[in-house]
Amino acid sequence: MAKERANPNEKMTPDLPSATDVFVVGGGPAGLAAAIAARQRGFEVVVADGMQPPIDKACGEGLMPDALEALAQLGIRLSTDEAHPFCGIRFLGSSLSADADFPFRGRGLALRRPSLHCILLEHAARLGATLLWGTAITGISREGVHLGQRFVRARWIIGADGANSRVRQWVALNAGPRPRLRYAFRRHYRVAPWTDHMEVYWGLHCQGYATAVSNDQVCVALASHDPALRLETGLHTLPRLSARLRDAATVSTERGALTGNRRFARIWRGNVALIGDASGTVDAITGEGMGLAFRQAVALAKCLQSGNLANYQAEHRRLMLRPWWMARLMLTLDGRPALQHRTLQVFQEHPEVFRRLVALHVGALPPTRLLWDGLTLGWGLLTA
Ligand SMILES: Cc1cc2nc3c(=O)[nH]c(=O)nc-3n(C[C@H](O)[C@H](O)[C@H](O)COP(=O)(O)OP(=O)(O)OC[C@H]3O[C@@H](n4cnc5c(N)ncnc54)[C@H](O)[C@@H]3O)c2cc1C
Repeated sequence: MAKERANPNEKMTPDLPSATDVFVVGGGPAGLAAAIAARQRGFEVVVADGMQPPIDKACGEGLMPDALEALAQLGIRLSTDEAHPFCGIRFLGSSLSADADFPFRGRGLALRRPSLHCILLEHAARLGATLLWGTAITGISREGVHLGQRFVRARWIIGADGANSRVRQWVALNAGPRPRLRYAFRRHYRVAPWTDHMEVYWGLHCQGYATAVSNDQVCVALASHDPALRLETGLHTLPRLSARLRDAATVSTERGALTGNRRFARIWRGNVALIGDASGTVDAITGEGMGLAFRQAVALAKCLQSGNLANYQAEHRRLMLRPWWMARLMLTLDGRPALQHRTLQVFQEHPEVFRRLVALHVGALPPTRLLWDGLTLGWGLLTA
Protein backbone atom coordinates (compact mmCIF):
# COMPACT_ATOMS: atom_id res chain seq x y z
CA MET A 1 0.00 0.00 0.00
CA ALA A 2 1.21 3.51 -0.76
CA LYS A 3 2.21 5.40 2.40
CA GLU A 4 0.02 8.35 3.48
CA ARG A 5 2.01 11.57 3.20
CA ALA A 6 1.55 14.97 4.80
CA ASN A 7 -0.78 17.38 3.01
CA PRO A 8 1.56 19.75 1.15
CA ASN A 9 -1.18 22.43 1.13
CA GLU A 10 -0.45 22.89 4.80
CA LYS A 11 2.98 24.31 3.94
CA MET A 12 3.43 28.07 4.16
CA THR A 13 3.71 29.91 0.85
CA PRO A 14 7.27 31.25 0.76
CA ASP A 15 8.09 34.90 0.13
CA LEU A 16 8.72 35.80 -3.49
CA PRO A 17 12.41 36.55 -4.10
CA SER A 18 13.26 39.47 -6.40
CA ALA A 19 15.84 37.44 -8.35
CA THR A 20 16.98 33.86 -8.84
CA ASP A 21 19.44 31.84 -10.92
CA VAL A 22 16.82 29.50 -12.37
CA PHE A 23 13.07 30.09 -12.65
CA VAL A 24 11.03 26.99 -13.49
CA VAL A 25 7.58 27.58 -14.97
CA GLY A 26 5.43 24.56 -14.04
CA GLY A 27 5.76 22.29 -11.03
CA GLY A 28 4.73 18.94 -12.54
CA PRO A 29 7.19 16.00 -12.67
CA ALA A 30 9.42 17.73 -15.24
CA GLY A 31 9.53 21.09 -13.45
CA LEU A 32 10.26 19.56 -10.06
CA ALA A 33 12.91 17.25 -11.54
CA ALA A 34 14.52 20.27 -13.25
CA ALA A 35 14.46 22.16 -9.94
CA ILE A 36 16.04 19.25 -8.08
CA ALA A 37 18.79 18.78 -10.67
CA ALA A 38 19.54 22.52 -10.68
CA ARG A 39 19.68 22.63 -6.87
CA GLN A 40 22.06 19.64 -6.94
CA ARG A 41 24.41 21.87 -8.95
CA GLY A 42 24.07 24.77 -6.54
CA PHE A 43 21.71 27.09 -8.45
CA GLU A 44 19.15 29.18 -6.61
CA VAL A 45 15.80 27.87 -7.92
CA VAL A 46 12.21 29.11 -7.90
CA VAL A 47 9.37 26.93 -9.21
CA ALA A 48 5.87 28.32 -9.86
CA ASP A 49 2.77 26.33 -10.74
CA GLY A 50 -0.74 27.66 -11.29
CA MET A 51 -2.26 24.70 -9.43
CA GLN A 52 -2.20 23.56 -5.81
CA PRO A 53 -0.41 20.32 -4.88
CA PRO A 54 -0.69 17.43 -4.95
CA ILE A 55 -1.34 17.66 -8.69
CA ASP A 56 -3.13 14.78 -10.41
CA LYS A 57 -3.06 14.06 -14.13
CA ALA A 58 -4.24 11.44 -16.62
CA CYS A 59 -1.34 8.98 -16.67
CA GLY A 60 -0.59 5.25 -16.71
CA GLU A 61 1.45 5.92 -13.54
CA GLY A 62 4.21 3.40 -14.27
CA LEU A 63 7.89 4.21 -13.91
CA MET A 64 10.11 1.93 -15.98
CA PRO A 65 13.47 0.75 -14.60
CA ASP A 66 15.33 3.44 -16.56
CA ALA A 67 13.01 6.11 -15.09
CA LEU A 68 13.86 4.86 -11.61
CA GLU A 69 17.58 5.07 -12.45
CA ALA A 70 17.12 8.69 -13.49
CA LEU A 71 15.13 9.39 -10.31
CA ALA A 72 17.99 7.90 -8.29
CA GLN A 73 20.36 10.35 -10.00
CA LEU A 74 18.06 13.07 -8.65
CA GLY A 75 18.49 11.55 -5.18
CA ILE A 76 15.08 9.84 -4.99
CA ARG A 77 14.90 6.10 -4.36
CA LEU A 78 11.29 4.96 -4.26
CA SER A 79 10.52 2.03 -1.98
CA THR A 80 7.77 -0.59 -2.21
CA ASP A 81 6.11 1.17 0.78
CA GLU A 82 5.53 4.07 -1.57
CA ALA A 83 4.96 2.34 -4.89
CA HIS A 84 3.87 -1.00 -6.37
CA PRO A 85 6.44 -3.07 -8.26
CA PHE A 86 6.07 -4.66 -11.70
CA CYS A 87 8.65 -6.94 -13.26
CA GLY A 88 8.00 -6.57 -16.99
CA ILE A 89 5.54 -5.95 -19.80
CA ARG A 90 2.77 -8.14 -21.20
CA PHE A 91 0.99 -7.63 -24.54
CA LEU A 92 -2.46 -9.20 -24.87
CA GLY A 93 -4.66 -9.58 -27.94
CA SER A 94 -8.10 -11.16 -28.03
CA SER A 95 -6.63 -14.66 -27.56
CA LEU A 96 -2.82 -14.41 -27.71
CA SER A 97 -0.41 -12.93 -25.21
CA ALA A 98 3.33 -12.45 -24.77
CA ASP A 99 5.25 -11.24 -21.78
CA ALA A 100 8.83 -10.39 -20.94
CA ASP A 101 10.55 -9.54 -17.69
CA PHE A 102 12.89 -6.57 -17.55
CA PRO A 103 16.54 -7.56 -18.02
CA PHE A 104 18.86 -8.10 -15.03
CA ARG A 105 15.86 -8.81 -12.78
CA GLY A 106 15.01 -5.12 -13.03
CA ARG A 107 11.68 -3.77 -11.91
CA GLY A 108 9.44 -0.84 -12.49
CA LEU A 109 7.33 0.92 -9.86
CA ALA A 110 3.86 2.42 -10.13
CA LEU A 111 2.16 4.94 -7.86
CA ARG A 112 -0.65 7.44 -8.02
CA ARG A 113 0.37 10.76 -9.57
CA PRO A 114 -0.50 12.83 -6.47
CA SER A 115 1.74 10.55 -4.37
CA LEU A 116 4.63 10.94 -6.81
CA HIS A 117 4.02 14.69 -6.88
CA CYS A 118 4.31 14.86 -3.09
CA ILE A 119 7.57 12.89 -3.13
CA LEU A 120 9.08 15.14 -5.80
CA LEU A 121 7.98 18.40 -4.21
CA GLU A 122 9.14 17.36 -0.74
CA HIS A 123 12.55 16.47 -2.16
CA ALA A 124 12.78 19.76 -4.09
CA ALA A 125 11.79 21.72 -0.94
CA ARG A 126 14.33 19.78 1.17
CA LEU A 127 17.07 20.74 -1.29
CA GLY A 128 16.09 24.41 -0.88
CA ALA A 129 14.06 25.19 -4.01
CA THR A 130 11.43 27.90 -3.49
CA LEU A 131 8.05 26.45 -4.48
CA LEU A 132 5.16 28.77 -5.37
CA TRP A 133 1.78 27.06 -5.77
CA GLY A 134 -1.39 28.62 -7.12
CA THR A 135 0.91 31.00 -8.99
CA ALA A 136 0.36 31.22 -12.75
CA ILE A 137 3.10 32.75 -14.86
CA THR A 138 1.68 35.38 -17.17
CA GLY A 139 4.71 36.22 -19.30
CA ILE A 140 8.48 36.14 -19.61
CA SER A 141 11.16 38.47 -20.91
CA ARG A 142 14.95 38.17 -21.29
CA GLU A 143 15.32 39.54 -17.78
CA GLY A 144 12.86 37.32 -15.97
CA VAL A 145 9.37 36.11 -15.27
CA HIS A 146 6.04 37.91 -14.79
CA LEU A 147 3.61 36.65 -12.16
CA GLY A 148 0.71 39.01 -12.84
CA GLN A 149 1.83 42.38 -11.46
CA ARG A 150 4.95 40.91 -9.87
CA PHE A 151 8.32 40.23 -11.53
CA VAL A 152 11.24 37.94 -10.65
CA ARG A 153 14.58 38.44 -12.38
CA ALA A 154 16.08 35.15 -13.57
CA ARG A 155 19.31 34.19 -15.26
CA TRP A 156 17.76 31.04 -16.73
CA ILE A 157 14.07 30.31 -17.41
CA ILE A 158 12.87 26.73 -17.77
CA GLY A 159 9.54 26.05 -19.47
CA ALA A 160 8.12 22.93 -17.77
CA ASP A 161 4.52 23.93 -18.32
CA GLY A 162 3.27 20.81 -20.09
CA ALA A 163 2.21 19.83 -23.59
CA ASN A 164 0.37 23.12 -24.29
CA SER A 165 3.31 25.17 -23.07
CA ARG A 166 2.81 28.93 -23.12
CA VAL A 167 6.53 29.43 -22.53
CA ARG A 168 7.10 27.60 -25.82
CA GLN A 169 4.72 30.05 -27.54
CA TRP A 170 6.22 33.08 -25.86
CA VAL A 171 9.70 32.28 -27.19
CA ALA A 172 8.39 31.15 -30.58
CA LEU A 173 9.57 27.54 -30.35
CA ASN A 174 6.35 25.94 -31.59
CA ALA A 175 7.72 24.98 -35.01
CA GLY A 176 7.79 21.24 -35.62
CA PRO A 177 6.10 18.48 -37.60
CA ARG A 178 2.31 18.34 -37.16
CA PRO A 179 1.64 15.51 -34.70
CA ARG A 180 -1.13 12.95 -34.99
CA LEU A 181 -2.37 13.02 -31.41
CA ARG A 182 -4.54 10.43 -29.67
CA TYR A 183 -7.16 10.78 -26.95
CA ALA A 184 -6.43 9.06 -23.66
CA PHE A 185 -8.49 8.51 -20.51
CA ARG A 186 -7.61 6.93 -17.20
CA ARG A 187 -9.40 5.71 -14.09
CA HIS A 188 -8.59 3.62 -10.99
CA TYR A 189 -10.36 0.41 -10.00
CA ARG A 190 -10.42 -1.24 -6.58
CA VAL A 191 -9.22 -4.75 -7.37
CA ALA A 192 -6.31 -6.92 -6.27
CA PRO A 193 -3.59 -6.92 -8.95
CA TRP A 194 -3.90 -10.04 -11.10
CA THR A 195 -0.42 -9.75 -12.58
CA ASP A 196 3.06 -8.51 -11.75
CA HIS A 197 3.46 -7.09 -15.30
CA MET A 198 2.38 -3.79 -16.78
CA GLU A 199 -0.20 -4.89 -19.35
CA VAL A 200 -1.08 -3.54 -22.78
CA TYR A 201 -4.36 -4.87 -24.21
CA TRP A 202 -4.57 -4.51 -27.98
CA GLY A 203 -8.01 -3.82 -29.43
CA LEU A 204 -9.08 -3.00 -32.94
CA HIS A 205 -9.08 0.78 -32.49
CA CYS A 206 -7.61 1.33 -29.03
CA GLN A 207 -5.24 0.00 -26.42
CA GLY A 208 -5.93 -0.45 -22.73
CA TYR A 209 -3.06 -0.14 -20.25
CA ALA A 210 -3.35 -1.74 -16.81
CA THR A 211 -0.84 -1.00 -14.07
CA ALA A 212 -1.26 -1.97 -10.42
CA VAL A 213 -0.52 1.05 -8.23
CA SER A 214 -1.07 -0.65 -4.86
CA ASN A 215 -2.21 -3.96 -3.36
CA ASP A 216 -5.81 -3.07 -4.05
CA GLN A 217 -5.84 -0.57 -6.91
CA VAL A 218 -5.18 -0.83 -10.62
CA CYS A 219 -4.79 2.19 -12.89
CA VAL A 220 -6.43 1.64 -16.27
CA ALA A 221 -5.81 3.95 -19.22
CA LEU A 222 -7.21 3.79 -22.73
CA ALA A 223 -5.86 5.52 -25.83
CA SER A 224 -7.34 5.82 -29.30
CA HIS A 225 -7.74 8.23 -32.22
CA ASP A 226 -11.45 8.59 -31.46
CA PRO A 227 -12.24 11.59 -29.22
CA ALA A 228 -15.65 10.09 -28.41
CA LEU A 229 -14.24 6.75 -27.18
CA ARG A 230 -14.34 7.09 -23.39
CA LEU A 231 -12.92 4.52 -21.00
CA GLU A 232 -16.06 2.52 -20.19
CA THR A 233 -17.09 2.20 -23.87
CA GLY A 234 -13.56 1.34 -24.93
CA LEU A 235 -13.37 -1.42 -22.31
CA HIS A 236 -16.25 -3.23 -24.05
CA THR A 237 -13.91 -3.68 -27.02
CA LEU A 238 -11.23 -5.23 -24.74
CA PRO A 239 -13.05 -8.28 -23.27
CA ARG A 240 -10.00 -9.71 -21.47
CA LEU A 241 -9.42 -6.46 -19.59
CA SER A 242 -13.08 -5.77 -18.87
CA ALA A 243 -13.41 -9.32 -17.46
CA ARG A 244 -10.68 -8.44 -14.95
CA LEU A 245 -12.59 -5.34 -13.89
CA ARG A 246 -16.09 -6.83 -13.92
CA ASP A 247 -16.79 -6.58 -10.17
CA ALA A 248 -14.32 -3.81 -9.37
CA ALA A 249 -15.55 -0.48 -8.01
CA THR A 250 -14.08 2.67 -9.54
CA VAL A 251 -12.12 4.76 -7.04
CA SER A 252 -11.29 7.83 -9.11
CA THR A 253 -13.01 9.98 -11.66
CA GLU A 254 -12.12 9.63 -15.30
CA ARG A 255 -9.42 12.04 -16.49
CA GLY A 256 -8.46 12.69 -20.08
CA ALA A 257 -5.42 14.01 -21.93
CA LEU A 258 -4.00 14.12 -25.43
CA THR A 259 -1.06 11.88 -26.17
CA GLY A 260 1.25 11.19 -29.09
CA ASN A 261 4.74 11.68 -30.47
CA ARG A 262 5.44 15.37 -30.85
CA ARG A 263 8.80 16.99 -31.62
CA PHE A 264 9.96 20.58 -31.99
CA ALA A 265 12.76 21.86 -34.18
CA ARG A 266 14.31 23.75 -31.22
CA ILE A 267 13.84 23.50 -27.48
CA TRP A 268 15.80 26.56 -26.35
CA ARG A 269 16.27 30.19 -27.24
CA GLY A 270 18.48 32.70 -25.44
CA ASN A 271 18.25 31.93 -21.73
CA VAL A 272 15.03 29.87 -22.02
CA ALA A 273 14.96 26.06 -22.24
CA LEU A 274 12.03 23.66 -22.42
CA ILE A 275 11.72 20.36 -20.57
CA GLY A 276 9.21 17.50 -20.20
CA ASP A 277 6.03 17.59 -22.27
CA ALA A 278 6.66 21.27 -23.05
CA SER A 279 9.72 20.17 -25.04
CA GLY A 280 7.95 17.39 -26.96
CA THR A 281 6.05 14.23 -26.05
CA VAL A 282 6.21 10.51 -26.64
CA ASP A 283 2.99 8.49 -26.91
CA ALA A 284 1.53 7.10 -23.66
CA ILE A 285 2.08 3.57 -24.99
CA THR A 286 5.77 3.91 -24.10
CA GLY A 287 5.10 4.61 -20.38
CA GLU A 288 8.24 6.74 -20.67
CA GLY A 289 7.08 10.40 -20.47
CA MET A 290 8.17 10.98 -16.89
CA GLY A 291 11.36 8.95 -17.17
CA LEU A 292 12.29 11.04 -20.17
CA ALA A 293 11.66 14.24 -18.19
CA PHE A 294 13.88 13.00 -15.33
CA ARG A 295 16.72 12.25 -17.75
CA GLN A 296 16.26 15.63 -19.46
CA ALA A 297 16.45 17.34 -16.05
CA VAL A 298 19.85 15.79 -15.33
CA ALA A 299 21.12 16.81 -18.79
CA LEU A 300 19.70 20.33 -18.57
CA ALA A 301 21.26 21.11 -15.17
CA LYS A 302 24.64 20.03 -16.53
CA CYS A 303 24.24 22.34 -19.53
CA LEU A 304 23.09 25.24 -17.36
CA GLN A 305 26.29 24.87 -15.41
CA SER A 306 28.42 24.96 -18.53
CA GLY A 307 26.20 27.77 -19.89
CA ASN A 308 25.69 25.86 -23.15
CA LEU A 309 22.07 25.20 -24.08
CA ALA A 310 23.07 24.01 -27.56
CA ASN A 311 24.48 20.92 -25.84
CA TYR A 312 21.12 20.46 -24.11
CA GLN A 313 19.41 20.45 -27.51
CA ALA A 314 21.74 17.68 -28.74
CA GLU A 315 21.36 15.60 -25.58
CA HIS A 316 17.57 16.13 -25.58
CA ARG A 317 17.37 14.84 -29.15
CA ARG A 318 19.41 11.77 -28.19
CA LEU A 319 17.20 11.07 -25.16
CA MET A 320 13.96 11.38 -27.16
CA LEU A 321 15.13 9.04 -29.90
CA ARG A 322 14.57 5.64 -28.27
CA PRO A 323 11.06 6.18 -26.78
CA TRP A 324 10.04 8.09 -29.90
CA TRP A 325 10.95 5.19 -32.21
CA MET A 326 9.56 2.59 -29.82
CA ALA A 327 6.20 4.43 -29.86
CA ARG A 328 6.25 4.51 -33.65
CA LEU A 329 7.14 0.83 -33.82
CA MET A 330 4.39 -0.23 -31.40
CA LEU A 331 1.78 2.00 -33.00
CA THR A 332 2.28 0.37 -36.40
CA LEU A 333 0.02 -2.32 -34.84
CA ASP A 334 -2.68 0.26 -34.04
CA GLY A 335 -5.84 -0.37 -36.11
CA ARG A 336 -4.23 -3.32 -37.97
CA PRO A 337 -5.78 -6.45 -36.44
CA ALA A 338 -4.08 -8.91 -38.79
CA LEU A 339 -0.63 -7.44 -38.14
CA GLN A 340 -1.36 -7.32 -34.38
CA HIS A 341 -2.34 -10.98 -34.41
CA ARG A 342 0.71 -12.09 -36.39
CA THR A 343 3.08 -10.01 -34.28
CA LEU A 344 1.69 -11.44 -31.05
CA GLN A 345 1.98 -14.92 -32.56
CA VAL A 346 5.68 -14.30 -33.29
CA PHE A 347 6.24 -12.90 -29.77
CA GLN A 348 4.49 -15.91 -28.25
CA GLU A 349 6.48 -18.40 -30.35
CA HIS A 350 9.79 -16.55 -29.96
CA PRO A 351 9.69 -15.09 -26.44
CA GLU A 352 13.35 -14.04 -26.76
CA VAL A 353 12.38 -11.54 -29.49
CA PHE A 354 9.85 -9.83 -27.23
CA ARG A 355 12.30 -10.01 -24.30
CA ARG A 356 14.94 -8.16 -26.32
CA LEU A 357 12.43 -5.56 -27.51
CA VAL A 358 11.50 -4.89 -23.89
CA ALA A 359 15.22 -4.67 -23.03
CA LEU A 360 15.67 -2.17 -25.87
CA HIS A 361 12.64 -0.23 -24.65
CA VAL A 362 14.16 0.31 -21.20
CA GLY A 363 17.56 1.19 -22.63
CA ALA A 364 19.29 -2.04 -21.59
CA LEU A 365 20.15 -3.11 -25.15
CA PRO A 366 21.48 -1.08 -28.07
CA PRO A 367 19.29 -1.14 -31.23
CA THR A 368 22.13 -2.73 -33.24
CA ARG A 369 21.70 -5.94 -31.20
CA LEU A 370 18.19 -6.34 -32.61
CA LEU A 371 19.09 -7.09 -36.20
CA TRP A 372 18.53 -10.82 -35.77
CA ASP A 373 15.23 -10.20 -33.92
CA GLY A 374 14.09 -7.91 -36.72
CA LEU A 375 14.76 -10.72 -39.20
CA THR A 376 12.94 -13.28 -37.00
CA LEU A 377 9.98 -10.94 -36.62
CA GLY A 378 9.92 -10.14 -40.34
CA TRP A 379 10.13 -13.81 -41.30
CA GLY A 380 7.44 -14.68 -38.74
CA LEU A 381 5.13 -12.01 -40.09
CA LEU A 382 5.64 -13.23 -43.66
CA THR A 383 5.08 -16.87 -42.86
CA ALA A 384 2.44 -16.77 -40.07
C1 LIG B 1 -2.84 8.49 -20.79
C2 LIG B 1 -1.40 8.78 -20.44
C3 LIG B 1 -0.65 7.80 -19.83
C4 LIG B 1 0.68 8.05 -19.48
N1 LIG B 1 1.37 7.07 -18.83
C5 LIG B 1 2.63 7.30 -18.43
C6 LIG B 1 3.33 6.32 -17.68
O1 LIG B 1 2.81 5.24 -17.35
N2 LIG B 1 4.61 6.59 -17.31
C7 LIG B 1 5.21 7.79 -17.63
O2 LIG B 1 6.38 7.97 -17.28
N3 LIG B 1 4.57 8.73 -18.34
C8 LIG B 1 3.29 8.53 -18.73
N4 LIG B 1 2.60 9.50 -19.40
C9 LIG B 1 3.30 10.78 -19.73
C10 LIG B 1 3.34 11.70 -18.51
O3 LIG B 1 2.06 11.85 -17.94
C11 LIG B 1 3.87 13.07 -18.94
O4 LIG B 1 5.01 12.90 -19.72
C12 LIG B 1 4.19 13.94 -17.72
O5 LIG B 1 3.02 14.32 -17.03
C13 LIG B 1 4.92 15.22 -18.17
O6 LIG B 1 5.19 16.00 -17.05
P1 LIG B 1 5.39 17.57 -17.22
O7 LIG B 1 5.80 18.05 -15.89
O8 LIG B 1 6.21 17.85 -18.41
O9 LIG B 1 3.94 18.15 -17.58
P2 LIG B 1 2.64 18.24 -16.67
O10 LIG B 1 2.51 17.04 -15.82
O11 LIG B 1 1.53 18.55 -17.62
O12 LIG B 1 2.90 19.50 -15.73
C14 LIG B 1 2.90 20.80 -16.23
C15 LIG B 1 2.61 21.75 -15.08
O13 LIG B 1 2.74 23.10 -15.52
C16 LIG B 1 1.75 23.87 -14.89
N5 LIG B 1 1.54 25.09 -15.69
C17 LIG B 1 1.07 25.17 -16.97
N6 LIG B 1 1.06 26.46 -17.37
C18 LIG B 1 1.53 27.21 -16.33
C19 LIG B 1 1.74 28.60 -16.11
N7 LIG B 1 1.48 29.51 -17.07
N8 LIG B 1 2.21 29.01 -14.91
C20 LIG B 1 2.48 28.12 -13.93
N9 LIG B 1 2.29 26.78 -14.09
C21 LIG B 1 1.83 26.34 -15.26
C22 LIG B 1 0.54 22.96 -14.81
O14 LIG B 1 -0.34 23.36 -13.77
C23 LIG B 1 1.19 21.60 -14.54
O15 LIG B 1 1.24 21.30 -13.15
C24 LIG B 1 1.27 9.29 -19.78
C25 LIG B 1 0.53 10.28 -20.42
C26 LIG B 1 -0.80 10.04 -20.75
C27 LIG B 1 -1.60 11.12 -21.42
